[in-house]
Amino acid sequence: MAKIELIGLSKDELQKALTDIGEKPFRAKQLWQWLYYFGETDFEKMSNLSKALRQKLAENFTVTRPKIVAEQLSSDKTRKWLLEFADGQRVEMVYIPEDDRGAVCISTQVGCAVGCKFCHTGSQKLTRNLTAAEIVSQFMVARDTYGEWPSPTNEIRYLSNIVVMGMGEPLHNLQNTIKALNILTDGDGIAISRRRITMSTSGIAPNIVCALQETGVRLAISLHAPNNDLRSKIMPINDKYPLEEVLSACREYQKDDGSRYITFEYLMLDGINDSLECARELIALMKKYKLRASFNLIPFNPWPGCSFTPSSNGRVRAFAKELENAGFAAPVRVARGQDILAACGQLKSQKDKEK
Ligand code: SAH
Ligand code: SF4
Repeated sequence: MAKIELIGLSKDELQKALTDIGEKPFRAKQLWQWLYYFGETDFEKMSNLSKALRQKLAENFTVTRPKIVAEQLSSDKTRKWLLEFADGQRVEMVYIPEDDRGAVCISTQVGCAVGCKFCHTGSQKLTRNLTAAEIVSQFMVARDTYGEWPSPTNEIRYLSNIVVMGMGEPLHNLQNTIKALNILTDGDGIAISRRRITMSTSGIAPNIVCALQETGVRLAISLHAPNNDLRSKIMPINDKYPLEEVLSACREYQKDDGSRYITFEYLMLDGINDSLECARELIALMKKYKLRASFNLIPFNPWPGCSFTPSSNGRVRAFAKELENAGFAAPVRVARGQDILAACGQLKSQKDKEK
């Protein structure tokens, strides 16, 4: 019988896997702690379990990390990994350090079916969804790299935050993403605070409220345009889920909880969506839907073959000022790891060609 992979099982599933091999349910608690609190991958080192049990675990189960195919470290300490799963499929992961914390950017799919015109991953089409195990184990690789095991008990950590902003559309892989986020936030294991996780979506409207309710993480919406005409041109998904549906879902999400803020990501594309008129339309949109929101203005990261160019600093500043004057925070995302960070997905395509 094939061995069962333990990473990615929920607590209940782990318990069942143990009772299925004739072990007592309480063992699940110990094993969970070894897997997610200590980050142990070797059953032999699980020292509070008897030798016989360790052997039995090794006979029935596996604990797998994705393979690191390539790793790049920027002069500003931003790190990028290309990770490979058992079937040879690859995704990118990035770590962006700050003074007293840092965010790991994880992927949820190989490629993406949404096909945004400005996105390199979108130009690669969807190959497959990642499993919950593959989503969780990416972050575990980052923990391995920084030696951040066992899980720190305070909030001061290298790897304090997670952004679900890597390759893929998380709400097109809803169940696996929800499961993975609930494992990553479980207090007996990896224990990343839900407030420190942000999930970014291109706006798969029917899944927004459910995904947030079931995970309690923060929401970011890739808005990128203030009206349907323009948004559909750069994000074809807007024809399926137009702005009205996306923003109504946002309103629904905020309705019962005054502490829920939404970040709207807005890519600054020269001459496309960066006029003051666009900024004013955005402000009107926020007021119409009564959203508590801030903006994140993102400098466009060009890639070979794309037809867009980044907005000039002057235009970005004027756009930001217009939003700020209307009472919205609108920080411009600082470009990090410029010496290694080509657009997300480029390291993967470069290495895939070498295969
Ligand atoms: N699919 C989700 C999450 C992954 S993309 C989403 O679209 O939100 C994460 C963010 O990167 C999105 O805001 C996306 O619009 C942005 N992005 C895509 N291509 C980019 C590029 N070339 N330069 C800068 N940001 C880009
Ligand atoms: Fe997919 Fe997000 Fe890229 Fe759009 S921006 S193609 S949704 S990964």
